[in-house]
Amino acid sequence: MQIDKVYEPQRFEPHWAQSWIDSGIFRASPGAPGRVFSLVIPPPNVTGSLHIGHMLEHTEIDVTIRWRRMLGYNTLWLPGTDHAGIATQMVVERKLAEEGITRRDLGREEFEKRVWQWKEQYGDNIKRQMIRLGASCDWSRERFTLDPGLSRAVREVFVRLYEKGLIYRGEYMVNWCPRCQTALSDLEVAHTDIGGHLWHIRYPVNGLPDRFVTVATTRPETMLGDTAVAVNAQDARYLDLHGKTVQLPLMDREIPIILDDLADPEFGTGVVKVTPAHDLNDFEAGRRHNLPKIKVIDENAKMTAAAGAYAGLDRFEARKQVVAALEQAGALVKVEDYKLSLGACARCKTPVEPLVSTQWFVKMKPMAERAIEVVENGRVEFIPANWTKTYYEWMHKIRDWCISRQLWWGHRIPAWHCQECREIVVARETPSACPRCGSAELVQDPDVLDTWFSSGLWPFSTLGWPDQTEDLATYYPTSLLITGFDILFFWVARMIMLGLEFMGEVPFHQVYIHALVRDADGQKMSKTKGNVIDPLVVTEKYGTDAIRMAMLQCNTPGTDIVLTEARMESSRAFANKIWNAARFLFQRMELCGVEPWVPENLEKFLPEAAGAEVPIEDRWIFSRLNDCAQQVNRAIETYRYHEAAQLMWQFVWHEFCDWYLELKKLRFQENSGLTAGWRNILAAFENMLRLLHPAMPFLTEELWQRLAAGPTRPVSIALVSYPQYRREATDFAAEREIGILQEIVTMARTLRAENKLDPKQRLAGTLFSANDTLLEIVRRHAEAMQKLANVSLTLESGHFGGGGGSGLGFGDGTGDGLGGLSAVRSTAEFDLMVRVPRSQEEAQGKRIAKEREQLEKNIANSKRQLSDEVFLGKAPQKVVDNIRAKLADYEAQLAKLP
Ligand SMILES: [Zn+2]
Ligand SMILES: [Zn+2]
Repeated sequence: MQIDKVYEPQRFEPHWAQSWIDSGIFRASPGAPGRVFSLVIPPPNVTGSLHIGHMLEHTEIDVTIRWRRMLGYNTLWLPGTDHAGIATQMVVERKLAEEGITRRDLGREEFEKRVWQWKEQYGDNIKRQMIRLGASCDWSRERFTLDPGLSRAVREVFVRLYEKGLIYRGEYMVNWCPRCQTALSDLEVAHTDIGGHLWHIRYPVNGLPDRFVTVATTRPETMLGDTAVAVNAQDARYLDLHGKTVQLPLMDREIPIILDDLADPEFGTGVVKVTPAHDLNDFEAGRRHNLPKIKVIDENAKMTAAAGAYAGLDRFEARKQVVAALEQAGALVKVEDYKLSLGACARCKTPVEPLVSTQWFVKMKPMAERAIEVVENGRVEFIPANWTKTYYEWMHKIRDWCISRQLWWGHRIPAWHCQECREIVVARETPSACPRCGSAELVQDPDVLDTWFSSGLWPFSTLGWPDQTEDLATYYPTSLLITGFDILFFWVARMIMLGLEFMGEVPFHQVYIHALVRDADGQKMSKTKGNVIDPLVVTEKYGTDAIRMAMLQCNTPGTDIVLTEARMESSRAFANKIWNAARFLFQRMELCGVEPWVPENLEKFLPEAAGAEVPIEDRWIFSRLNDCAQQVNRAIETYRYHEAAQLMWQFVWHEFCDWYLELKKLRFQENSGLTAGWRNILAAFENMLRLLHPAMPFLTEELWQRLAAGPTRPVSIALVSYPQYRREATDFAAEREIGILQEIVTMARTLRAENKLDPKQRLAGTLFSANDTLLEIVRRHAEAMQKLANVSLTLESGHFGGGGGSGLGFGDGTGDGLGGLSAVRSTAEFDLMVRVPRSQEEAQGKRIAKEREQLEKNIANSKRQLSDEVFLGKAPQKVVDNIRAKLADYEAQLAKLP
């Protein structure tokens, strides 16, 4: 039962983290008994290292899965990582740049080898960190999106969708990064607000001398590629222009005036330029009106030959020259400052260029319809429910999905182009000859698939699909997905669509969307702001359990999580409190010669008699624990993690430690060789550890092992049952009695604090109650109350001052004279009066005077700051608010002084 004096989680957390892995207790088995509860991890990028958002996500998953495991479910938490196409490619390219080479110097095959080498060397980072933080996942089922098995699933899905006509090649507007030379998904584009300009340009109308239309644009260089201007058919100002054309300045090209809703009569002049090759909305308008697409900017962001005099210029240089030329030609009406949102490549910060290119697409509409249905009929539920609306909005306006990327790292598209007849062959295995012309000259499509294509298959590809494995049959559909809102569309929606398409069943029944972790000022964490909390640093400092508890506690649904040092510190104090409670018990056990013991069937254990009867505090703690367990179970089941954490905190600290152990200490004083009743104490303690285990796995394991080690016990607390509500453990009588004891002791303590009385000085008091039954209960526990409150009590029937009884008897047991001061406090059933002994009056007066002086000083200080204009001008609002709040607090305290 040796236990260190100080709680130092750093000493035992790594040990248990490794021990859990080595013992294989988190390994799932399809044949295991119990209902199935399965969940796949949102695979972190293989390039990543664990950030605080992961830690939140993994804590919520881990609490849920540990809880289900303890409930007897056949659980699986499947871990793994994503190959993260562009992110990983960039990392390796940067390394190559340090060696002074590019991927093109190496060639594709050699480059891929280098990425794999990099993955072997650094790809396990996240895994190591997750193990260290206690994630109870099944590492024997770890997957990587580029594993052979998953790659086979990807090819199978691609071929089937292609055969079904749901994959096609087509022209589309994509976000293009001229630096990375690839199409980007919307998630890979970072938008920042910048101060730009709006250039107003006028185009002369052909056939109507002196008639012009004025268009406004933030990118004047694109006007070189205009192939129309649009007005709204309803716009009365332009009825005379229907069917006319304008002359495009600088290019001297005649382009039509089209009627399209693209032009909003309420916005600007009501006329817009149409550049189908360089803007997505214009691209679609171009399709509607069959307009030519003139590409004036190329993949390197240089002007093309179609840009005439500007050919070869960089796009930004071209902008300057176009503006100058327009001005010279008298076509520039005005230039305004204009705030705009600039899209840049999230990886390299180069402004993206919308470009038309030939890409591979998935038709989404047919799959989206079914994916909407399953949410409508409740087969997939979003929590919190407000995300359902966001999901519908996205799904109803879904566009075809561009799945090709011009990268080298990823799943190569299983399509081959015949060099003879241009036939495209899509196949599971590399074809040897063109099925149309027989030529052997087949070249595989150079593109790879969007990373989300493979992660979209994650819930079934990781379980062995396309093979009909036992894992797939047992663990699909998964029970739950816990993830962030930012990938609700990119990932969650696509998993639903692809799961329905290939498994004929939803991939998960519930989706819990977690919040964002913010810093103490409510700011989003980012490396550039320097406010990032590194989970490995804070867990090293406070212990993993404390950070988990802190995160759960501030996890109120629907709000972001504000994680502060103060919160982490107080969680550590909580862990420390438990440690000290354990230390106290273990030392007592040694003193009393008590061996570690746990009941064979804790689920059925009820407190036993020690001597004549079952100690009241044992009946009470079992009843309280029973109530707490019922509420915690409900809270975890409904993802109210903050509530579960607060219930645990309240029970452990304010019931188990503050009252139960204090009452037990009195028992030990009564009888230092206490032997009877230990079984109750140990059973209550073990139950408390079980209750707490999903939230604080390390601390509870460390303590439980000392109690319960032995050949017939499970190897870990993670495998024992979770406390459940039992009708027979509820003991209202015990709760009522201890409730009265708590009420009176609390009254006495409050009186003492309010009147600045020395906590060590034993006081004399009288307790009044008109309810004789209550007084009877008080009499029964008078000794404990008097000791805990440090007051000698006289009991009186009736009310204070109500003449309830005569001959108030004071005996303070010290022979000290009694002073004239008395203090009274009342609750619904009781009045408590204490007399302040003469010997205390002087000291009390001094304490009060000192406190008054300090408060007055603080108030003066705060007021001075709040009237200092210079300070107010400079200080952040938060600091000022804080001072105001403190001032109000000081004033309230001052008013309360006796
Ligand atoms: Zn880029
Ligand atoms: Zn051919």
